[in-house]
Amino acid sequence: MNKVSGKRILLVDDDRISLGFIAAYLRREGYEVDTSENGEIALEFLEENIPHLIICDVEMPVMGGKELRKSLRNNSKFRLIPFIFLSGKTDAHDIIEGLNLGVDDYVTKPVSHVELGARARATLERQALYEDLLNYDHLTGVLSRRNIESKLKDELVRVKRYGRPFSLIMVDIDHFKKINDRYGHLFGDLVLEKVAKNMSQKIRDVDYVGRMGGEEFVIGLPETPRQAAFEVAEKVRKSISEVTYEENPEVRVTISGGVSCAPDEGDQLNQLLEIADKKLYQAKGDGRNRIIDELTEPS
Ligand code: GH3
Ligand code: MG
Ligand code: MG
Ligand code: MG
Repeated sequence: MNKVSGKRILLVDDDRISLGFIAAYLRREGYEVDTSENGEIALEFLEENIPHLIICDVEMPVMGGKELRKSLRNNSKFRLIPFIFLSGKTDAHDIIEGLNLGVDDYVTKPVSHVELGARARATLERQALYEDLLNYDHLTGVLSRRNIESKLKDELVRVKRYGRPFSLIMVDIDHFKKINDRYGHLFGDLVLEKVAKNMSQKIRDVDYVGRMGGEEFVIGLPETPRQAAFEVAEKVRKSISEVTYEENPEVRVTISGGVSCAPDEGDQLNQLLEIADKKLYQAKGDGRNRIIDELTEPS
């Protein structure tokens, strides 16, 4: 198993024979392959399925490859899917025109299957690298803000559809500025790493942690009502307060947190983050190193 096997490729070509051979080769290489015979059919397919890579012929009836590419490029849902042209048009002019549509590669026919496979793999590996950079916080390894927000939004769609509970915990490290001021920024970074790791270890596999920025984290808890979320938050809070740091053994770090729960307190991400943030703010005001799941006075 290499890193990219199991990835889904959409192959678009009106030449059924070439399509069949290439699809068979790529499947033997470990990919899942779907096929479409022109751009229009590919667009229909894409409405329901997002592949990891599109390999596309240029000249096809109904909708050609360039038209398909332009349409995908203008749509935020499809823009980032890697795209390789595979074309019988081999003039420099055609190749340049193809590359100018912002594709990852332009391969000319006839192509050796091995070469196409190598180009596909290189493109997929590069894409996986970009996605890691986008989806994970590079300091702590937890989800990036962009990634956790997108997961939370997906989750809230399910909440609306099935009415299942979902909770989130907003966490902020207490007096973190003092840690930096007293022990230096590098040690501050190490604390962030350790706190994030500790949170990740204390939650279930289906739960997830993301870094919202600075020393602020959010934990997502699918299928979890507020009371249970509060208990998780308390467990995390206690555990973090017990973590020790070899470099400075006297240091203890605490967190404050606020819990909000869908659908009881809303089903929009902004609402839920705002409510959790208010509770977090109250936790700070009440003396820190605590979790608030219910505001004492409505604000
Ligand atoms: P409070 O208990 O009210 O949350 O106080 P605080 O000091 O934690 O909050 P404040 O917002 O005043 O300070 C947060 C600090 O976090 C300031 C900033 O320099 C530090 N910080 C933000 N991002 C990083 C980072 O990536 N690494 C390090 N070392 N420090 C960071
Ligand atoms: Mg063709
Ligand atoms: Mg903060
Ligand atoms: Mg803080």
